[in-house]
Amino acid sequence: MHMSRGAGESLADLAEEVRTLRQDVEVLRTIIDESPDVIVLKDHEGNFLLGNRLVAELYGTTPEQMVGKHDGDFSATAEQAEFFRQNVLSIMASGEMEIVLEDSTDDRTGETRHFKSIKKPFIGPQGKPNILVIAHDVTDIRRSQLQIETSERRLRYVLEATGDGIWDWHIPTGKVVYSDRWVEMFGYRPEEITGDLDDFEACLHPVDGDETMAAVREALTGNGSYGREHRVRRRDGKDIWVLDRGQVVERDEAGVAVRMVGSVADISERKKAEDELAAIAYIDLLTGLPNRRFLHERLQHVLARGIRLGNYSGLFYIDLDQFKMLNDTMGHGAGDRMLQLFGERLRDCVREMDTVARFGGDEFAILVEDLGDTAEGAMMAAVAIAKKINATCDAPFDLSSISHRITASVGITVMENEGDSAEEILMRADIAMYAAKSAGRNSARFFDPDIQAALTSRIALESDLRDALLAGDIRPVYQGIVDGCGRLVGAEALARWFHPNRGVIMPTDFIGLSEQTGQILDIGRAMLRATCEQLVQWRRSPETTALTIAVNVSARQFSEPDFVDHVLAILADTGAPPERLKLELIETMLVHDIDDVIAKMALLYAEGIEILLDDFGTGYCSLSYLQRLPLTGLKIDRSFVDGIHRSEGDSAIVRTIMALASNLGLSVVAEGVETTAQHEFLREHGCEMFQGYLFSRPGPVDDLQFA
Ligand code: C2E
Ligand code: MG
Ligand code: MG
Repeated sequence: MHMSRGAGESLADLAEEVRTLRQDVEVLRTIIDESPDVIVLKDHEGNFLLGNRLVAELYGTTPEQMVGKHDGDFSATAEQAEFFRQNVLSIMASGEMEIVLEDSTDDRTGETRHFKSIKKPFIGPQGKPNILVIAHDVTDIRRSQLQIETSERRLRYVLEATGDGIWDWHIPTGKVVYSDRWVEMFGYRPEEITGDLDDFEACLHPVDGDETMAAVREALTGNGSYGREHRVRRRDGKDIWVLDRGQVVERDEAGVAVRMVGSVADISERKKAEDELAAIAYIDLLTGLPNRRFLHERLQHVLARGIRLGNYSGLFYIDLDQFKMLNDTMGHGAGDRMLQLFGERLRDCVREMDTVARFGGDEFAILVEDLGDTAEGAMMAAVAIAKKINATCDAPFDLSSISHRITASVGITVMENEGDSAEEILMRADIAMYAAKSAGRNSARFFDPDIQAALTSRIALESDLRDALLAGDIRPVYQGIVDGCGRLVGAEALARWFHPNRGVIMPTDFIGLSEQTGQILDIGRAMLRATCEQLVQWRRSPETTALTIAVNVSARQFSEPDFVDHVLAILADTGAPPERLKLELIETMLVHDIDDVIAKMALLYAEGIEILLDDFGTGYCSLSYLQRLPLTGLKIDRSFVDGIHRSEGDSAIVRTIMALASNLGLSVVAEGVETTAQHEFLREHGCEMFQGYLFSRPGPVDDLQFA
């Protein structure tokens, strides 16, 4: 814009130059005014030498009016004006340019705007120091920056509030950002745990480490996420349980994981609760002793170890005698107290390492480990412990208001065999305990393989018996009953099991069992029906028409509520004459509910059915009962007949029974007559009917010697 001045320059040239300069100033002025930034020139005291339109507008004035004034003259507050003045002075003093961020509040709108200002000192036209201020409005940038900061802070609050520790891992640089909660949870400072996986592994519990690391690596290369519950070994050495989740959130073009974020939740409390629950599942709450489940698992463990070490261990099964009575008579509170005290005493019988468990009810068990390495030694040691257990009952138990004595039955089994299951061992101890029970109170018994064998065969027998009943293999044989002259007057039907493989099985081998299983009911019906059918046969022929048949009725059968109906139904069904049918009952059934027995007998008697008391003299039967019962006869048990010539007592009993029967008007059949001498003796004392091998053996009906 400047032109060189020639020697002969004219006034016109000068005027032209001034005009051009003015134009230049105009252009500069326009540029300054149109600037989107605030442009201000101040003197060394802060007074305006120049202000562009933008600043004039902000100050609510015109650029012209600004000249010679200072910030305080316009909308700036007194403090702000003073701040600007001081600022000018300090820049002047230092002579350095300054870049600062400044806020200014618009008086009219009350709005705060943010500026990034450059303040540059320089020497002005008259050699005076001036200051140039160019302020760029960064309000929008600043606002979005503040917004980002606010939302970041908010996110942080939320994350901290969840209680989870958060981490953000930039994989290529290995930089990890941890939340405060994470730091608090792990106890490490963030710089101590870098993004190096080894660092992470170092703070895992050694037991859980491998699996967790595998999960993390798998997430990085494979499916992108993992979630695991594992323990963390804190910096202070304390272990905590965490739920650890991680997810890859960014990958590069090749698919390699770049960023992974995750959270860690402290689940130690939950784990503790779970452990407590598991403990309860293994503990009997009443006594605080381990329960059956615990002992079972311990036993499995011991068996496995025993096989390795060749060691013997013992299992004791303990049941209190007549505990039910204590419970019933003194109340459950006393019963519970007893169980607690007994549990404590059992604990004192063995070492700390042995397991004393309560199985429920009044059943306890003790697993004693390491009884020695010889069978004999182990047995001896087991006996000593059993004695201790029995002796622990010597002193009475103090049940708050009363003191009570109780005894216990102890079943023992010593484990020696490889391959025995825990169930089998428990069953043996249980069987032994029952053997102890039947041996009398306060005793101990070893498991006996014979008992086991009997039990096993009984179970087999039971299912066999079911088949036999279906196949009709249980049928009567008949044993004749004769009068004083040896003439047949009737027969007793005796059950036989015609087994397809085992031959004939005697009633003593299956009646008892069938009473326990309830199968006696089916046997009884089959016998009764066969007997009635036989009576119908006999009725058709004159030589047999008067014969009677006696059939045995078991206590279980007789006590069935519909027993009488059943008998009558079979009679009606077959058309057999009731007056030819006799029922043999045994004394023991008179012990229970005598009124029911009398009522049933009366009903049967009313139909013409005779009722005999079988095996008379072996059981307990009071005379007063005998008088009340509608009986027609007695059968003297064969044990007395057998003893007639060998035992004073037996012959006396036979005489007494004869006298008694004659007084009560009852008929008498003597059972088991094998010799003529017995026959003679019985006849002499008034007996009129006889049954025994002397006359006839039980056999097919056709073997009977009809008159
Ligand atoms: P029980 O009713 O006292 O039957 C008499 C038993 O004595 C029969 O044995 C018979 O064979 C046996 N006996 C008869 N005479 C003599 C003799 O001279 N000498 C000897 N040593 N024994 C003789 P069995 O048949 O073995 O029956 C045994 C028991 O089984 C019966 O005793 C009876 O209580 C029961 N029983 C048999 N059949 C049935 C039945 O159908 N139902 C029920 N509930 N019990 C039955
Ligand atoms: Mg009989
Ligand atoms: Mg008998």
